[in-house]
Amino acid sequence: MNVDSIKNGIVIDHITAGKAMELYYLLGLDKTDYHVAIITNANSKKMGKKDIIKVDGNIKLDMDAIGYFDPGATVTIIEKSEVVEKKKITLPERITNVILCKNPRCITTTEQELPHVFRLTDEKNRIYRCLYCEAKAERK
Ligand code: ZN
Repeated sequence: MNVDSIKNGIVIDHITAGKAMELYYLLGLDKTDYHVAIITNANSKKMGKKDIIKVDGNIKLDMDAIGYFDPGATVTIIEKSEVVEKKKITLPERITNVILCKNPRCITTTEQELPHVFRLTDEKNRIYRCLYCEAKAERK
């Protein structure tokens, strides 16, 4: 795969250097058959170093998951070798099934079919809390 000539696909750019692999697994890209190129420590005028993920194929990615994980990232969608959309990712208000609530008394522990929903409660500190039990999402 020539990483510079994706015909149809997605480029996640401006990922914080060193975080691409984690995002790769968070998005479940390890479970797909798509060609994925991960570029680490690319030079960036704005950031110094950055990571980039390129996916060759029309995959639907969870933009909220990207926003939760790395809100400075950008997503470019390419169709027929042309950029059709360029999105700046921001912190989402809500994320669903991106992270799991770890509170053993939370209703999501007993009601297995409930989606794990977290909402943004403190934008400045990027704090998310469980919709059901208010438990704080843990970040690594
Ligand atoms: Zn909970």
